[in-house]
Amino acid sequence: MRFDTVIIGGGLAGLLCGIRLSESGQRCAIVSRGQSALGFSSGSLDLLSHLPDGQPVSDVAAAITQLEQHFTAHPYALLGANRVLNYARQAQTLLADCGLRLQGDAETPHQRVTPLGTFRRAWLSPQEVPLKPETTLRTGVVGISGFLDFQPQLAAATLRKRGIDAHAEEIELPALDTLRDNPSEFRAANIARQLDTAEHYTALYQALRPLSEQYQALWLPACFGLMDSIVFDRLNQQLACPLRLLPTLPPSVPGLRMQHLLQQRFVQSGGSWMPGDEVIRADISGDQVTQLWTRKHEDIPLRARHIVLASGSFFSNGLIASRDRVREAVFDLDVLQSDNRSDWYGDDVFACQPWHQFGVQTNARLNGLRHGRALSNLYVIGSVLGGFDPITQGCGGGVCAVTALHAAQQITDQGGEQ
Ligand SMILES: Cc1cc2nc3c(=O)[nH]c(=O)nc-3n(C[C@H](O)[C@H](O)[C@H](O)COP(=O)(O)OP(=O)(O)OC[C@H]3O[C@@H](n4cnc5c(N)ncnc54)[C@H](O)[C@@H]3O)c2cc1C
Repeated sequence: MRFDTVIIGGGLAGLLCGIRLSESGQRCAIVSRGQSALGFSSGSLDLLSHLPDGQPVSDVAAAITQLEQHFTAHPYALLGANRVLNYARQAQTLLADCGLRLQGDAETPHQRVTPLGTFRRAWLSPQEVPLKPETTLRTGVVGISGFLDFQPQLAAATLRKRGIDAHAEEIELPALDTLRDNPSEFRAANIARQLDTAEHYTALYQALRPLSEQYQALWLPACFGLMDSIVFDRLNQQLACPLRLLPTLPPSVPGLRMQHLLQQRFVQSGGSWMPGDEVIRADISGDQVTQLWTRKHEDIPLRARHIVLASGSFFSNGLIASRDRVREAVFDLDVLQSDNRSDWYGDDVFACQPWHQFGVQTNARLNGLRHGRALSNLYVIGSVLGGFDPITQGCGGGVCAVTALHAAQQITDQGGEQ
């Protein structure tokens, strides 16, 4: 099978790159083995919240200039501040074109409310997510009876410590009783499959209506809106106060919706989506990847002028750790890592962990390095890259979006099939 570009991995990075390439007229395929990190994420995207030395970031451009000077392995340092911010703005437009209604922008980070009642800096958040409110706002934090993945008492108590006038409430939804029979089924995505249907709307509205008359804002766990915002919009029109939604423990409804809308856009733009398959090896000649072999298409290789590796980090097995080293799973690319295993971890599990920054090394064009030499038609994007810590630096979604669009730009600049 022949394409202009084959992308390995259909998470945030692979899909953004694939959409951009397909929309520019490329014949593009995405091979993706399984679920991506999106279904486990908050649905908010981080651009850059902290520098590696822990300094909080208020000016993203200035912070990237610091990365360029002192933390040169960071993907943003490879690209430079102007390009990072330019790609971040392009990503905002692309995500909106895919039907994602997100608040925030690259220049002005916001503080979103987390399900634990804390505040976390973000670049883009679904419009449903509450932002840090005025302390005087009388807020009802509403749980659903029997749903254990969101604890309104915990969230409300934490918010009160931060000066917010928050109170825990709970609603009964007997319509969900069939799910309640099995606690492992009583999860946000399964609840959403019920609450997104028209037949359950009235019960949900009637449970919330009296609370909406007592409070100035209601915050619920994000248990509806898997595919669209219809229920959210309708409730906001009809309730007496604004309603907002907090992402829950995985599976995350906002994250799953982002995955769904991006996948849909990729296919609509003409891309070939190959789910449930995996690239197991590649043939390399000189500085070029010549073909890819997948588990399902045993004897039919995938050939493309350009290959993009978007296979994710340890979480998605893009990186694999053995006793003595960390390796990249498909091409055995050079991986930024500490030689000595005892240096992989810090003693404090809550502190920045060195292994978070392990990942593939590239040049500034994002060509993967193998034995120190760049593979000229292989681009590496997203969380399989090394040199950054998505958790303590708050830059996971941003690195994915920015590197995805940078790779797509390099590829479209060179044209399609030979
Ligand atoms: C649990 C979790 C929660 C996170 N939450 C947030 C958040 O809220 N906000 C934020 O900004 N960042 C968050 N991050 C950071 C996150 O890494 C990025 O935001 C982003 O979603 C990662 O996207 P990705 O495309 O690089 O990789 P992934 O989402 O991991 O996708 C990689 C895909 O490649 C597939 N794959 C792997 N190997 C192969 C192969 N050989 N052949 C075919 N397919 C393959 C995998 O099955 C997977 O579908 C989170 C990360 C994790 C792990």
